[in-house]
Amino acid sequence: MNDSKVSRVTIRPRKRLFIGLLSLVAVLIVVTAGLALWVPSGGLLSLHPLLPIILTSVVVILTVLLMGGLLLLILTLLTGRDLFFSQTLRQIVIRYLFPAIIAFGRLLGIRRDTLQQSFIALNNQLVQAKKLRVPASRTLLLLPHCIQLFDCDIRITGEVDKCRRCGRCAVNELTGLAAARGIDIAVASGGTLARKIIVERRPQLIIAVACERDLTSGIRDAYPLPVIGVLNQRPHGPCINTRVVLAELEATLDEYLL
Ligand code: SF4
Repeated sequence: MNDSKVSRVTIRPRKRLFIGLLSLVAVLIVVTAGLALWVPSGGLLSLHPLLPIILTSVVVILTVLLMGGLLLLILTLLTGRDLFFSQTLRQIVIRYLFPAIIAFGRLLGIRRDTLQQSFIALNNQLVQAKKLRVPASRTLLLLPHCIQLFDCDIRITGEVDKCRRCGRCAVNELTGLAAARGIDIAVASGGTLARKIIVERRPQLIIAVACERDLTSGIRDAYPLPVIGVLNQRPHGPCINTRVVLAELEATLDEYLL
């Protein structure tokens, strides 16, 4: 393995950040709902005597569901086990809570990259809790086009087989890894091509390498398919001659392949 092409340094994002913000948002929702209920309660009573009771019941049920979901999410992350409704929890976080958490985090002055790293770590752990075991042939290693050497004459986007494996970039090691493990591999230049590749190849598990922004949108786009996000490294700046920690990919394959 050539260390100049494949990095050994791994980023360790903090999923606790996302959980903390999630908890804050949940508390805010409950407090806002309580205030909204309390302020006009006199007026509601004059409309119908049962209205305050009905609305209080709705707020209490929503609060119990919200706090129960949050507790379940935290327990799933702490124990690393697939407790009840983990798929539903992942759906709620990915589909509905993500935009609110990002907006809230930005309001608090937290960098978007940091928030996205935390979201990716959280997603990975929720997938990990499912303890999936997938045949190699149904596993897709999805790479960003910027992992290819910028000066390479060959365009391997959508056709990794065209790589001549000259060893000047990480695609050499990654195609070797895919061949050795019997997994599918593809390079995509963006979300549209990535979606097309996924529809055509129908993987059961995707191991996606990309930057924070692309991984976040990819994880959300591919749902409900399980995606393990692996952050790339950008020693030359964004979108050019990026790298990936090969050992991290190997460890992920060890964990998920049958
Ligand atoms: S390893 Fe493949 S993609 Fe990378 S520079 Fe060589 S031919 Fe191009």
